[in-house]
This record gives sequence, C-alpha cells and structure tokens, in this order.
Amino acid sequence: MPKHWTWNSFLRQFTRDQEGPIINGRHCLLWTGGIGPSGYGYFNINRQRWRIHRYIWVHYNGSIPNNLQVQHHCDVRHCGEIRHLTLGTPQDNSNDMVQRQRSWHPPHIYGDNNPRTKIKSRLRKRIRIIKQKTGFSERTLAQIFGISRASIHNALNEQDQI
Ligand SMILES: [Zn+2]
Repeated sequence: MPKHWTWNSFLRQFTRDQEGPIINGRHCLLWTGGIGPSGYGYFNINRQRWRIHRYIWVHYNGSIPNNLQVQHHCDVRHCGEIRHLTLGTPQDNSNDMVQRQRSWHPPHIYGDNNPRTKIKSRLRKRIRIIKQKTGFSERTLAQIFGISRASIHNALNEQDQI
C-alpha cells in the first residue's frame, strides 16, 4: 500500500479481465493485491482490514445494511466491479450459487466427455488469463474459483479439446 493512499492508487491495483464474461455491461475488475484464504481480495487502510468488494460497495453506496452481505453476480471473489456487486442475505447467495451451477457451471470441469466442452474451455481460458495477469499461485486460484488445485493445474497445463 503506498504511503499516501488515494482512491486512484487503489484503483490501479485492479486489472480489467477483458477475456472474461461481460456481466451487466462490464468485464470483471480483478484485484491484484492480497487474497485471503477464502479467495476474497483484501487490503489494509487505517489499520483496518477490508475485503475489497465491501470497500468498493461502501465507496459507491455509503454503507452496508445490517444482516446483508455484498455478493458477486460474477462469482469471482476478488472482483471489485461495482456492477457485479449486489446486496443479499446469506440464503440468497447459496440459492444463487445453486442456480448458477445448474445454468452454467459444469458439474465436472475437467476430463469428462459431456457436451459442455465449450464452457469448459471458456473457464479454462479465464483461469489462464487471471493467472497471467495476476501471477496468483495455483492454490489462490483454486480458492478464487472454488475448485481443486489439481483442476487449476490441469487448466493451466492441458490443451483445449476442439
Ligand atoms: Zn466480476
């Protein structure tokens, strides 16, 4: 963190994921700083540790109501794009995750023969781009995507099927 913290210096620690999906008109805005064990981006300011998506939310909206969480439409936990953030309850979040898993997350991402090869290669590509842009370890990427480290390793090293 620079000595004189500014909003702009904060923003410079993000990179736009140009290759990823467009959600609500924008690509993900990926945090390139610290990532916690649960896959969320964080930073310290005024001796307080903030998750970056919560900080972005408060910057634009003023506060986070009690009992609500700031959640990601994009499922990318280190994304700070305000258009990808929404307020919800923990229950909303798990319902959403189930919904999304049904709609576009393949149940088995690698090494199977189901007809979702296109989705698989898109996800693979996304993992590679994020790796390239951030240099995150396979362990961190596994946390971010919520999949095993072995799957991340495969995504980074295997060829796409055509
Ligand atoms: Zn996002």
